[in-house]
Amino acid sequence: RRRNEGIVIHDDWAGYSLDLFSYPTHYSGDLDSVIIPHGVIMDRTERLARDIMDDLGDHDIVVLCVLKGGYQFCADLVDQIKALSCSSERTILMRVHFIRLKSYLNDQSTEDLHILGAEDMSFLTGKNVLIVEGIVGTGKTLETLLKHVEAFRPKMIKVAGLLIKRVENRSACVPDYVGFEIPNRFVVGYALDYNEYFRDLNHICVISDSGKKKYKI
Ligand code: 5GP
Repeated sequence: RRRNEGIVIHDDWAGYSLDLFSYPTHYSGDLDSVIIPHGVIMDRTERLARDIMDDLGDHDIVVLCVLKGGYQFCADLVDQIKALSCSSERTILMRVHFIRLKSYLNDQSTEDLHILGAEDMSFLTGKNVLIVEGIVGTGKTLETLLKHVEAFRPKMIKVAGLLIKRVENRSACVPDYVGFEIPNRFVVGYALDYNEYFRDLNHICVISDSGKKKYKI
């Protein structure tokens, strides 16, 4: 796979103060900082859509949206690809399919990964598949998912990930299209959750210790 880091956010980047942006008041005190404002996510997504169009234009693709954390990125990426298909000579015919993965409790990865809605994916056989993920940490989840998808023998598999984390021992499995490379901190917002909270937040933020405590289960 082509190595592509996207926009690199360094470890010493403290983020923007929350006071500089608007966000739901029910989360005040629960967040440390904004590391990627919503507008920047949208601008980067627009460019990823162009890269995907350049590579895959004039193909039919099946978009495999990885729920729940990938729903917002997938929706915005599909919107941007649609916009390009309307405004240029080349188009991409897209079908969108949803699967759900679950492996996290609190902010810890658990060993057992569940793939829901993926029992029979024989409709992927011979197709061009674009997997859309919100965040890749160690890459183990993506590796497991890729093995599962490969078993159905698609013609091609590409992966778009909004965020990849700089973690030690990251698997060789990285997305072909990356929005941002971020420090190894737990982030929420833009559909990424902490125990189902913070999906209703537009910006990608670092959760505070008190936020972690408040929503712990
Ligand atoms: P991996 O198997 O790559 O270590 O973990 C991938 C999964 O862990 C992602 O699909 C996502 O669900 C979850 N994850 C990893 N890091 C974060 C994070 O910082 N925030 C949130 N909300 N989820 C994360």
